[in-house]
Amino acid sequence: SVERKTKTRTPSYLTFEDIGGQDRAKNELKEALDFLIKHEEIKKFGIRPLKGILLEGPPGTGKTLMAKAAAHYTNSVFVSASGSEFVEMYVGVGASRVRDLFKDARTRAQKENKDSAIVFIDEIDVVGGKREGGQHREYDQTLNQLLTEMDGIHTTDTPRILIMAATNRKEMLDSALLRPGRFDRHISVDLPDKKGRMHILNIHAKNKPLAVNVNLEKVAEESFNFSGAQLESLMNEAAVYAMRENVDLIEHRHLSLAIDKVIMGEKSDRESNK
Ligand code: ATP
Repeated sequence: SVERKTKTRTPSYLTFEDIGGQDRAKNELKEALDFLIKHEEIKKFGIRPLKGILLEGPPGTGKTLMAKAAAHYTNSVFVSASGSEFVEMYVGVGASRVRDLFKDARTRAQKENKDSAIVFIDEIDVVGGKREGGQHREYDQTLNQLLTEMDGIHTTDTPRILIMAATNRKEMLDSALLRPGRFDRHISVDLPDKKGRMHILNIHAKNKPLAVNVNLEKVAEESFNFSGAQLESLMNEAAVYAMRENVDLIEHRHLSLAIDKVIMGEKSDRESNK
């Protein structure tokens, strides 16, 4: 069998081309981002700035990739944190971390001479969960700080700040976060369909030597319900199988074994979480 042409590149940034499938989500996101880019027109028409975009969907579907691509698309600096990083035992620490995150975004934009910054918060539900029954006082302060930061964003600011957040439990979010002028643009990032899976497999096969007998369409068919992260793992495991066998190319059977391995891995993860 003949080796497929492989191309390797190590980009320092990520673009929408690096994200497989998700055509609808990508288009919705780009459309929203155009508001950030066309800020002069936005000002002229007196439209209030877009402050927050919420990405929601199951784990591993590419929400973080989307946020990074958004930063490249808008020529913004990218700063990020995960909701769980704001959870601390001591009162006030979470809130001050939120403040630092935004300060960092502004400082970096200035240093890198960019006029916008994207602040990405993964697992927003950890800090932005519904406030009920007086528990979680510490989370309250953190969430309040986040709301304060959002409310403090104005059209005339330099750098312009856009907040993006990801969650797989949108229904858990406090309604204060979802009000107009906060996270009022929601984009769902779902599990890929077959075409999407094939696209993702192709992206992750780019730097791998595949045998010509490999039929990625068949692999896409057999990986029903896989997330992007699982497809990445599938390609990687297949390469590991091939390497262990001391062969030059990844064959179809390596991919079949890898599919089973990823499915089994998920199962045993779930069992051990019981
Ligand atoms: P989580 O909710 O678990 O944080 P996520 O939706 O943010 O997940 P990412 O972190 O963006 O998922 O994806 C994890 C990895 O999975 C990526 O680094 C990439 O290798 C792969 N991946 C996920 N989705 C895609 C996709 N649509 N195209 C290409 N690769 C993907």
